[in-house]
Amino acid sequence: MNIHKRFLLFLIKLLLLLVLLPSSAFAQLNIFACAPEWGALAKEIGGTQVSVYAASNAAQDIHHLRARPSFLAKMRKADLVFCTGASLESGWLPVLLQKAGDPKVQPGNVGHLMASDYVMRLEIPEAVDRSMGDVHSEGNPHIHLNPHNLILIADELSKRLAKLLPQQAKLFNKNFEDFHTHWLSNIDRWEQQTLSLNNKNVVVYHSNWIYLLEWLKLNRIATLEPVPGIPPRISHLETVLNSVQDLNIKGILLTPYQQNKAAAWLSKHSDIPVIELPYTVGGNEKAKDLESLFEETLRILLGTDA
Ligand SMILES: [Zn+2]
Repeated sequence: MNIHKRFLLFLIKLLLLLVLLPSSAFAQLNIFACAPEWGALAKEIGGTQVSVYAASNAAQDIHHLRARPSFLAKMRKADLVFCTGASLESGWLPVLLQKAGDPKVQPGNVGHLMASDYVMRLEIPEAVDRSMGDVHSEGNPHIHLNPHNLILIADELSKRLAKLLPQQAKLFNKNFEDFHTHWLSNIDRWEQQTLSLNNKNVVVYHSNWIYLLEWLKLNRIATLEPVPGIPPRISHLETVLNSVQDLNIKGILLTPYQQNKAAAWLSKHSDIPVIELPYTVGGNEKAKDLESLFEETLRILLGTDA
């Protein structure tokens, strides 16, 4: 075989290999997602063109996440930093961004996407006052459990991805349109399924749930934390117990990461059940992506069997 034929054969093999490789092998954008819900949304909209690193999982309290050494290497590679904002990651993200140094992912630039900038934030304090606690100083950051919010965030995400990788702009736009259509039909179905929850009462440990409650028209009667991020003392729990005495309460809502001593105390004294919801992707074994996160959340709230 002469050298030209060998070269031709080599080229054919190479082409075959490229065709057979999974398309994820060609992921062109690296995304650093602070929370599992943003990692999941990035996969929905970025598809095969993105490689996603999620910095936390559902078992971790995102308010108190600490930067691990591995974060810096991941951030240095990142084309997009996709987080909640509203101070939720203020304990570690600014320092990490500063160390990573890449201008593209710094605040104000295309590779810096804070989801809470694109939704109507609830519970914005009228004045910042340390007595109000220090974890929700820019309003409630737990925005992802109103599914309408995810459409707004996905829209912005698709635009950012298109700017970062213009040759795939059409794909990102199509992925967003598909997500949008599918998500609107989900929302319609979920709202029909949960009509029986409208106007029911719940107690929460931390105000992780305000966007979900507002969407489902559930009433929050009490919060076990006296202010966001501060664990309850017994005197506060006794006040809560008095306030729920004559009411019909569906449950005390908890995330997988919350200590539930306070919830267990209230449950024992009031007979209100503790309801653990997955809260984010990976929060229980069935909540594998955003759609199943909502399916699971609603299934548990409705009390239907798995
Ligand atoms: Zn919080």
